Amino acid sequence: MKSKWTRDDQETLRESLRSRELARPLVREIRELAESLDREMRIMEVCGTHTVALRRSGIHSFLPDNVRMISGPGCPVCVTPTGYIDNALALLEEKDCVIATFGDMLKVPGSEGRSLSRYMGTGRVRIVYSPAELIEMAREADGQSGGSIRLQPGGFIRLQSDGSPAKSVVFLGIGFETTIPAIASVFLNTGELGIENLYLYTAFKTVPLALRALLKAPDRHFDAFLLPGHVSVILGTEPYEFLKQPGGVPGVITGFEPIDLLSGILAVLRLLAAGENRVENAYPRAVRKEGNPRARAVMNRLLYPVDELWRGLGVIPLSGMQLKPEFAALDAAGRFDLPEIRDFDPPGCSCAQVIQGKLLPYQCPLFGRPCTPEKPIGPCMVSSEGSCAAHFRYGDHPL
Ligand code: SF4
Repeated sequence: MKSKWTRDDQETLRESLRSRELARPLVREIRELAESLDREMRIMEVCGTHTVALRRSGIHSFLPDNVRMISGPGCPVCVTPTGYIDNALALLEEKDCVIATFGDMLKVPGSEGRSLSRYMGTGRVRIVYSPAELIEMAREADGQSGGSIRLQPGGFIRLQSDGSPAKSVVFLGIGFETTIPAIASVFLNTGELGIENLYLYTAFKTVPLALRALLKAPDRHFDAFLLPGHVSVILGTEPYEFLKQPGGVPGVITGFEPIDLLSGILAVLRLLAAGENRVENAYPRAVRKEGNPRARAVMNRLLYPVDELWRGLGVIPLSGMQLKPEFAALDAAGRFDLPEIRDFDPPGCSCAQVIQGKLLPYQCPLFGRPCTPEKPIGPCMVSSEGSCAAHFRYGDHPL
């Protein structure tokens, strides 16, 4: 059957979503509406990908002075507490595990300033581009791919292909609803595939409960949310319905191209002008009302909601996802007896304020000197989706 969308169709769509002709009337309407509102409006872009897209496209610079975009807690690396990195280092250094991780986690410093990046090239830290790679990685580490078995005093031991002892592989499970289903589908299959040395160290987080927590903060610093496109593909619109309750704010789901972003910001301003606190979907080509129930079912087969510690936000009830008791054998925290995670920023780092929209990155005294993407001090400068890195790279700062 012919695919609905050809490459040419996709390219045409992408070009139109970057078109100046389509952008101009949107920018004009945003300016007119902002002028008529005559007050400052702070829109929190919840998603780290939005943070980068807004600054890379330069859209933030077209906005009127009274419309301010501020970053939120939607960069998974940024909201992962420092204690999690400490435990990842302990898995590697004290428990002799191989650590498998998405690349963004490598440079995040633990409490002593050390990071996983120091072990790159040793084979003890492996970068994962797709969770599906974990199966082959675990087989290699277990000696199942080209390895051997040796008899020694005490019994047989497995060796990897280079003759070194077989190892456990721990995957650092961070991320939101966007990435969790793909990871869950891999771990649901390990039993059937005979993989016994692959573990999951969970620090998964779910977005709607973090937004609820931000809404309840007595000193909240925003008037509306630009809601995440990718997460909403999985969740749909229903989990944001709480926004229309008393104390709520307008929230608009949008995509990542310039026209998506401008349409989303305009929709937010219209809701603010009308005084309507509710969720609107400005990304209907990707987000359906019901989201993706199959992806959610995969996620919910392996994991269940637990209280979760977020950097800067503290413990948010039921905002994390942990392995269900029947999958406890896959749990790295239990298998390797890891201590409870603690949260604190590196000395002088203000990431906790940045991810709550309380501080702009360049208001941190360390921004740019000495904290840079090459020599990051905190996770918001490490991650490609971090607010500090986006502001530094795309020049939205007075340095
Ligand atoms: Fe932390 Fe660096 Fe951002 Fe300051 S500039 S908040 S030190 S990551």
